[in-house]
Amino acid sequence: MSDGTRRIIAFLVILVGGAFLWLAGRSSGNAEAAKNVLEATVATARERAFSEDPRLKAAYSFERGGWVYVHLEGDPATIGFQHGFLLAKEIADAFPAVSVGMVHSTGRDWAFFREVAREMLWPKIDAEYQQELEGITEGLNARTNSELDVYDIVAMNSFEEVPDYYVPWLDKREKTANAPKLNSPGNCSAFVATGSWTKDGQIVIAHNNWTNYKNGERWRIIFDIQPAHGYRILMDGFPGVIASDDDFGINSDGLMVTETTITQFEGWDPNGKPEFMRARKALQYAGNIDDYAKIMLDGNNGGYANDWLLGDRKTGEIAQFELGLKAYKLWRTMDGVFPGSNWARDPKVLKEDAPEFQPNNMETSPNARRVRWEELLNENKGKIDVALAKKMLSDHFDSSQKKEEANERTLCGHVDTSSRGVPQWNYTPYYPGGAVQGKAADSNMAKDMRLVARMGHPCGQDFLVKPFLAEHPEYAWQEPYLRDMKAGDWTIFRAGEKPAIGN
Ligand SMILES: [Zn+2]
Repeated sequence: MSDGTRRIIAFLVILVGGAFLWLAGRSSGNAEAAKNVLEATVATARERAFSEDPRLKAAYSFERGGWVYVHLEGDPATIGFQHGFLLAKEIADAFPAVSVGMVHSTGRDWAFFREVAREMLWPKIDAEYQQELEGITEGLNARTNSELDVYDIVAMNSFEEVPDYYVPWLDKREKTANAPKLNSPGNCSAFVATGSWTKDGQIVIAHNNWTNYKNGERWRIIFDIQPAHGYRILMDGFPGVIASDDDFGINSDGLMVTETTITQFEGWDPNGKPEFMRARKALQYAGNIDDYAKIMLDGNNGGYANDWLLGDRKTGEIAQFELGLKAYKLWRTMDGVFPGSNWARDPKVLKEDAPEFQPNNMETSPNARRVRWEELLNENKGKIDVALAKKMLSDHFDSSQKKEEANERTLCGHVDTSSRGVPQWNYTPYYPGGAVQGKAADSNMAKDMRLVARMGHPCGQDFLVKPFLAEHPEYAWQEPYLRDMKAGDWTIFRAGEKPAIGN
């Protein structure tokens, strides 16, 4: 008997059992309760039938420190199926939160995003990643009653590029009446250091993810991906999305990758390839800084334009790759540090791709954090290690006011405390957003595929929904999706690790 036949028979046996219960319930006049029993039985049967699916054999997941670790292994369709199946609950939870945000900010309905996914993005996605995205959809639907199709999943994968890059470009082009004000997001504080800057002379890389808390609370997946082709990947990520997307990852050929976005970036190329695919592909196939830049430039669509901070642990070299659409610049060194907090610095990139950005306004979040990075990194030259990196990601010194105060200008961002918000990203006063988690690694950790991560504000403070919404009812529309974001502990994850007994 094949595995498939056995599965179906097992499924039918349980189903028939459930039907008897249901009939019994009907005759006793308790139809509702019996229907619930039947539904629960069917769900259990479905779970059991699919958990014996050979595609799931090599995959597993466990939770630790507020994170969900998933190990995915195999060809693209298999990796996708495992992703969709193991993270079905998280995807089903994240999809409404993400999609409602996309619709709310742009004034476009979900059908619009599906059409963009089908017409513009899908044809530009490599076959390998199309198969993975189809696999995610299949795995999700196998485990849940979700009716999402692959275009919903592709649209969700584009949540960092279509709403804030393509839509404003389109609104401008079509002269859309009453177009909402949309700006590229400002995501993250990060640095990469090497040589005389670090304690052991090797690379240290660190990043905290800034986003709205609604999405950020769900950005809690550690992906360990062992693909049939390309390098092994360990990265943080979002349920249902094939790239890390806040971008922190290492691969088995020694590449260490992170980024911060370019504030007030403008531009889009409808003929380009989606950023989420290029970013995933670059982490999977680039073994050095040059290859990384090459893959990101191939079909650059301008979406989610970033300053990429890269390290190659094989050589100790680091780089900053400022990737605009019309212009880009690559700096590299064997002895130095590159910080990032959402500012572009190449004059050509600034002029052509982010013309509204004011590099000299030191009161803005990106520039105030830039000043703080420079202070902190210079103060600690020669001492930088992962322990210090974690401390820096938690820093609450506001360089503009010259005092300790967790707000929108501190490396560990708390925009919800600020009456200023961040106008450059359309973060209104007290916007529920900021640093939602942090990660760090050094060359030694990268060598054995380890990283350390903390879920929630890197400083360890909690964000609590109830008191926040009581004070800021203007964000009540987020209530169904907004959750308490409680900080976990700094937790080490390693590629290939198995859940501890009792975990
Ligand atoms: Zn903080």
